[in-house]
Amino acid sequence: MAMLEVKNLEVYYGVIQAIKGISFEVNEGEVIALIGANGAGKTTTLHTVSGLLTPKSGQVIFEGEDITKVPAHRIVSMGMAHVPEGRRVFAQLSVYENLKMGAYTRKDRQEIEESLRSVYKRFPRLEERKNQLAGTLSGGEQQMLAMGRALMSKPKLLLLDEPSMGLSPIFVNEIFDIIRSVSESGMTVLLVEQNAKKALSIADRAYVLETGNIVLDGPAKNLLEDDSIKKAYLGE
Ligand code: ATP
Repeated sequence: MAMLEVKNLEVYYGVIQAIKGISFEVNEGEVIALIGANGAGKTTTLHTVSGLLTPKSGQVIFEGEDITKVPAHRIVSMGMAHVPEGRRVFAQLSVYENLKMGAYTRKDRQEIEESLRSVYKRFPRLEERKNQLAGTLSGGEQQMLAMGRALMSKPKLLLLDEPSMGLSPIFVNEIFDIIRSVSESGMTVLLVEQNAKKALSIADRAYVLETGNIVLDGPAKNLLEDDSIKKAYLGE
């Protein structure tokens, strides 16, 4: 059984259909990339998976349970964490306070402390800046904080929306190294990216979205070699 199954999903904004009946799955331990141009429907798909949008039809199944109509906060406690596009940290709270907020669904203080130590180990820069207001962090540091905050909920599935957006090439590499290491520690990841080359370089499999449809999918290394992908998404 797949960890996440998305079946025949159709999502509308008013009368406009953004997602036109897509199906895909994410197996435990995989890194799956959803790639596609601006407006293809990547963010809409993630929002529907994490319960922020309700589809007109189709199903989202997480660990065998139909969560299509389950509210977002319940989905977080079921083990899915969503790092939204543009990061959205609590600007007026410190780094430490943001991280603590990420654990709001959990009760065991000792386990929360352990998660905090492991986030600081993964992101030493966050520990150095734990008392700094999140709004004063650089873009790359805010991305790290948003990821660290998501990890504080101890998710089974991590959804990442455009983690490379607006970051300098060095930070992009750093963020992708972190995603790879999070995955190697056993986390399952669904990654939405416009930077197709980077996404395909760390993903196991990928789906290509075009105007609300999945037009191609397969092992990431095959897609990296695919002529139509090279031309449309890799700038080759
Ligand atoms: P990007 O990489 O630019 O964020 P995307 O692939 O994530 O693109 P979406 O943001 O999911 O694409 O948008 C899919 C389509 O739905 C687009 O045509 C967009 O204009 C439309 N759309 C998104 N949000 C809304 C909204 N709140 N109201 C109306 N239309 C929307």
